[in-house]
This record gives sequence, structure tokens and C-alpha cells, in this order.
Amino acid sequence: MYAGPGVKTSPDFPIPDTMKAWVLGNPGELTLTRKPVPVPKRAEVLVRIDAVAICATDLEIIDHGSPALIQGGKPFNRNFTPGHEYMGTVVALGPGVDEYRIGQRITVEIHAGCGQCKRCREGMYTACLNYGLNYGDVDKGHRANGFTTDGGFCEYQVNNLNTLVAIPDTMSDEEATLVVTAGTAMYGLTELGGLVAGESVVVTGPGPIGLLGIAVAKAMGAQPVILTGTRDNRLAIGRELGADHVVNVRNEDAVEAVRRLNGGKGVDYVIECSGAPNAVNEAIRMVNRGGKVCLAAFPHQETPVDVAHIVRNNIYLFGIRGEGKSATHRAEAFMSQKRFDATKIHTHTFALDDLPTAIRYAKDRVDDAIKVVVKAKGVAAHRVAAE
Ligand SMILES: [Zn+2]
Ligand SMILES: [Zn+2]
Repeated sequence: MYAGPGVKTSPDFPIPDTMKAWVLGNPGELTLTRKPVPVPKRAEVLVRIDAVAICATDLEIIDHGSPALIQGGKPFNRNFTPGHEYMGTVVALGPGVDEYRIGQRITVEIHAGCGQCKRCREGMYTACLNYGLNYGDVDKGHRANGFTTDGGFCEYQVNNLNTLVAIPDTMSDEEATLVVTAGTAMYGLTELGGLVAGESVVVTGPGPIGLLGIAVAKAMGAQPVILTGTRDNRLAIGRELGADHVVNVRNEDAVEAVRRLNGGKGVDYVIECSGAPNAVNEAIRMVNRGGKVCLAAFPHQETPVDVAHIVRNNIYLFGIRGEGKSATHRAEAFMSQKRFDATKIHTHTFALDDLPTAIRYAKDRVDDAIKVVVKAKGVAAHRVAAE
């Protein structure tokens, strides 16, 4: 019978001893197997995973390993379960936990920093100095489910209280999986200074973070908000999420278009979400002197950057990792107040057993897929109208 020292459970939510879990073998190789249901320790709860979204970073981890770090190495053949953008129901409480109740719906952010290093103490727990040091005699207690500890492509997972975000019943499971994506955009805006009301913002790249970056910037009162990209269907969703202008960079020069749309001037902020090779050089020319650029995507190659232009114009560059400084809670507040409809980027839902198909849809953008969600409770595959 499922139990652990001091762990509280409820007969309303019976917990099995084992669960379905996808495990990463060699690169690109996922196998559905069974694992013991994990047991929460102090300051942790057990989450029954009700829905999990597939992220571009999952695809990166499954094929190439990084940025996952399991027992100090690549995540292959280590009985590792990926997946990190999940939500669910609290079904067991670790010893002493009274901050959440059994039956409560929550979504999660990813990083539970060690809590003791300099960066964690500054609120930058996604840049924890003890990242991945959670095994053997170097265990610092760091967890990043789906990166350095088991993630969400399974039925249950333990989460530190720090990673939980309570959600209202009016928020669907699918929408709740998108809170962490909006939280990443919110973290980018937080690092840029946070007060963007009345200021001009460009988002480059209409992927999930870019599209929700548009929504968050607009909800925070930015004006104008401009989205650049190459796919008209995604630019159209950006408009629905609040972009004042969209630019298809296949048709016109991105820098010239941004300056034209902003009255001949550069903008105050750029959030770079495309990872395109020329993206940084374009971003530093889209901003005004003294402007700020947040880099939220990573290109696969090293790219030359015009440093002289950055120095001469006092431009600030910020790299962000994940969703620090409790940005996820602020993003959830916008979503639960219906300040924007994040579900516009959710396109497909599959059953947990169909994860490989779901991944193929996300990776190859089959049927214009953007956010693909997997649900544990056997649902038939379906496409969600993005309109
Ligand atoms: Zn992600
Ligand atoms: Zn830390």
C-alpha cells in the first residue's frame, strides 16, 4: 500500500503503488514502462498529473540531452522521465505540509532551487548554482522536474511547495499547462525592468513563449506591441493575443518595419524568442539607444554579434533561463483574471499512451500544431480549433 513516513493521503484519491511512465533510453527513444509512485518528503506534495504540454525544450532534451542533467551527465539510459509543463491535483501531502489540501488543483513551475545558494537567495532560483546537484553525497536538494529530476510524462510526480501555483476551477487543465510558458514571458519582462506600461515592445519569434510574451506585454499596458515572424497563421494568433502590429519578415526588413511602425524610432524593449542566427544583431538595431533586449531563445550555433553597436548605444542584453522570481504566479493572475486567452496557442490534445505521436505533431508542426497537450485520462486524439 502507498505510504511514507508522515505522508497524508485521502480515501477520495486512492494512490496505486506503481504508475505508467515514459522513460528516455538512447537519444530520441522513449519507452512506456511502469515505475513506483514517488513519495513526497518534507515541503513536498504528490501531484496526480492531469495534463502536460510538450515544450521545444523537451524535444531538445529527448534528442540531444542538454539542458537536462541527470546524476551529473546526459539524461540517456538513466531511467529518466522527461516532461515539465504539467498541471494536476494534489493527492498526498509530505510531512508537515498544510499549505495545500488534498484535491486542490494546481499547476507547476519547474525549478525548485536549492534555496541556500547566492542566486536562490536573490530569487534567481532558475539560475541556482547547485543546478543538478541532487544525487549521492553531493545532494543539495535542487529539483527541476523534467530537467534534473523525473518530470511529467507519467501519472504522478512529487513537487516542492515552491513550484506549485494554485489555479481556479474556471481554468481548464489545458490552459493551466500554459501558465509556466506565460511565466517565462513574464520573467523576461521582469528582468527588463517590469514597468512597460506605455512603452514600446517588440517580440521576435511567434513560438509559444513569443506569443504569450505579446499577451503579457499587452496586459501590462505596453504600447505599441509588435510581433515579427515568418508564419502568417502564427502572426494572426499574435494579433488575437494583443499585438498592435505584426511583421512577416519574409516580406519586409524586420528592423525597417519596426522603426516605421514606431514612428521612425527604435523601440524600448525587444524580447527575442526566435533563436534565429541574425536575431541578436536585428534586436539591437530595433531598440533605441539605451534600449533593453531580453534573449529567451537559444540558437544552435555560436553567432557573431556587433558588440560595437551595443557599446556605442548603451544597449542592455539580458539572458533569461526559465521562469524565475515567482513570475509564474503573476502570469497566473493575469490568466485567472482573463486578461488574455492563452488557449489560443493550444492546438492538439493526445492521450498519455500516444506521447510519441504527440511529440511528432509538436516537432514537425503537423496540422499547424503549436502547443500539444497530453492527458493521462485516456482521451481520444483531437484537434482543438485555434480560432
Ligand atoms: Zn518548457
Ligand atoms: Zn540554489
